[in-house]
Amino acid sequence: MTHATANSSSATSPWMNEELSIMRDHIARFFNKEFVPHVKRWDEQGIVDRDAWLKAGTAGILCASIPAEYGGGGGDFRHEMIIEEEMARAGITGIGNSVHSGIVAHYILQYGSEEQKQKWLPRMASGELVGAIAMTEPGTGSDLQGITTQAKKIDNAYSITGQKTFLTNGQLANLICVVVKTDPAAGSKGVSLIMVETDTVEGHGGFVRGRNLEKIGLKAQDTSEVFFDDVKVPRENLLGAQEGLGFVQLMEQLPQERLIIAVSACVAIERALEYTREYVKERKAFGKRILDFQNTQFRLAERLTEAKIARVFVDDCAMKLLEGKLDASTAAMAKWWTTQKQCEIVDECLQFFGGYGYMMEYPIAKMYIDARIQKIYGGSNEIMKLLIAREL
Ligand SMILES: Cc1cc2nc3c(=O)[nH]c(=O)nc-3n(C[C@H](O)[C@H](O)[C@H](O)COP(=O)(O)OP(=O)(O)OC[C@H]3O[C@@H](n4cnc5c(N)ncnc54)[C@H](O)[C@@H]3O)c2cc1C
Repeated sequence: MTHATANSSSATSPWMNEELSIMRDHIARFFNKEFVPHVKRWDEQGIVDRDAWLKAGTAGILCASIPAEYGGGGGDFRHEMIIEEEMARAGITGIGNSVHSGIVAHYILQYGSEEQKQKWLPRMASGELVGAIAMTEPGTGSDLQGITTQAKKIDNAYSITGQKTFLTNGQLANLICVVVKTDPAAGSKGVSLIMVETDTVEGHGGFVRGRNLEKIGLKAQDTSEVFFDDVKVPRENLLGAQEGLGFVQLMEQLPQERLIIAVSACVAIERALEYTREYVKERKAFGKRILDFQNTQFRLAERLTEAKIARVFVDDCAMKLLEGKLDASTAAMAKWWTTQKQCEIVDECLQFFGGYGYMMEYPIAKMYIDARIQKIYGGSNEIMKLLIAREL
């Protein structure tokens, strides 16, 4: 089984340029040398080695779109896209960089005080701090306003009590952006974001991590519950000038989060089709190549068309995001449609591998189990359709 080439169809995207192309080569080489040899072991142990984050930091993989004055790469969303693409292309799922760099670092950049930015961003860029976002609770996921984790003001601190679940990077994270109610009676206006530095609260009883949750896919990614029982954090860990801005802050940042998922879906589609094209040219049945059956040609022709449509749409969204013009509804369209197509296309590609597609040694099998979550997290696809339907 040969492996897919490093060529990405974003090589011809309107936002590509020579500098980004050089960066892509550097990152692809780094992943192949430093991470790919460990992917199977990370899958088996359910978590990446902690020093993988530090290596990623040294290689400039983390916080690529954070300004250099805060230790970041000084790039923009295009740089994050290339990292996301190359990670997907190399089959690396364990490092939740899209949450760390694409979400948590951007909350700090957008809403943090100068002191907060100086304090956390350089250490996130180096990998010393691993970021996580804690929105979901056991009792509520889609309905974010229904969260019950509460932060009460006591003297110069907030006391946080509640439970969060499904945190990406949940075992390794030491900087968690926690979505809390600072005023439970105020509905969405009572929601705030508070940063918890776990190194300062862990081991004192109030902050406890649950086990690393066992998932059907994304095996190398640590996903956990966390428990807060009267966990005291300084008042200055609130993100934003005042309490109650959390819901608006989340709504402003979610389009970027959803587009990152759409980018990864797009690459997964392209990668699945590359593998399948190679396979159906080699494998024979009834004296013909699998590719020679008209069924194969028509199905793959349809799927290649959809891959192209996905790429053009995602590129257009990326251009809009770069101009600050990507609205919530368009981002929701990109998220639901590309992830729906990812699941359909990867499933159909697997079929062309016959029984071999069901064997984990064939990358298409891992792509199949890793695809399923894409329709659920980052806001489920049903919630995406609700957002779009608001415009009807
Ligand atoms: C691997 C993984 C990583 C994750 N990472 C994170 C993370 O880092 N941080 C974090 O905070 N969360 C994370 N999540 C949580 C994820 O975002 C939620 O699981 C998701 O938002 C859905 O919430 P829920 O599981 O509570 O489902 P529910 O809200 O209980 O929904 C159940 C089903 O009902 C549907 N539904 C709900 N409301 C409606 C409606 N109004 N109309 C129609 N259908 C509806 C949903 O679409 C879904 O199909 C992660 C989850 C997983 C599995």
